[in-house]
Amino acid sequence: MKILFIGTGAADWVLKDRKGNEFFRRLTAVKINNNLMIDCSADTVDYVNSNGELKDVKNVLITHTHSDHYSPETIIDLLGNDVRVWAEKESEKMILSDMPQLKDSVLEIFAENTVGEYTVIPVPAGHSVANRDQTPVNYIISDGDKTIFWGCDSAWIPNYSWHEMKKYKYDLIVLDGTLGDADGDYRIFEHNNISMIKEMSNTIKSQNLLKENGKIMISHMSRYAHKEHNELQKQLDDVGIMVAYDGLEIEF
Ligand SMILES: [Zn+2]
Ligand SMILES: [Zn+2]
Repeated sequence: MKILFIGTGAADWVLKDRKGNEFFRRLTAVKINNNLMIDCSADTVDYVNSNGELKDVKNVLITHTHSDHYSPETIIDLLGNDVRVWAEKESEKMILSDMPQLKDSVLEIFAENTVGEYTVIPVPAGHSVANRDQTPVNYIISDGDKTIFWGCDSAWIPNYSWHEMKKYKYDLIVLDGTLGDADGDYRIFEHNNISMIKEMSNTIKSQNLLKENGKIMISHMSRYAHKEHNELQKQLDDVGIMVAYDGLEIEF
């Protein structure tokens, strides 16, 4: 399995303000192998402009409908009208009202859903959107051999999701890495800070959720809360957590 981090930034990275070759994070989009994406933000166009098309992508899993994860215009422009855009049922209602030409692609939470060649289990995230009927989700994704947990956006992992998560062993776990190490950040109820990430990572390891060579990473870093990338990576080196960056591709 391969994962390509197209965009690793939280919503405060603004593409139009990018200067020259400075280090930059696009808004969230991830590609698994050649044919599956998790989220598709407007900044995905910037990736395609410099790296080529995403024409083999047949399925997109939407975590939630915040605009830094979900851009209907971009999905149609880049992936066409035949793409399947999957989400839990209330989020899917919004997706189909934005893109009525698409096929209904509802995912059942806590169930094994078949999406192309993958089994996908959505679990509720510690996150919310303005429409309280919608449930932001994280994803357990398996191709029958390799398994990943996608944990952005979420603060902690809700208990009932943890109970589902711990039924499996993972080649890769990606946790929400939005916040830094400042005390008193008001956003800890919707995103993780570094202390939370370290706590969860310790428990994931002590409960043997990682396969041999399994990795824990973070993505969705905010601009305001973190030191620059290399310093952040240094901060997490001693606990063995890898910080994603735009364009990083990992095969496992
Ligand atoms: Zn976000
Ligand atoms: Zn969000």
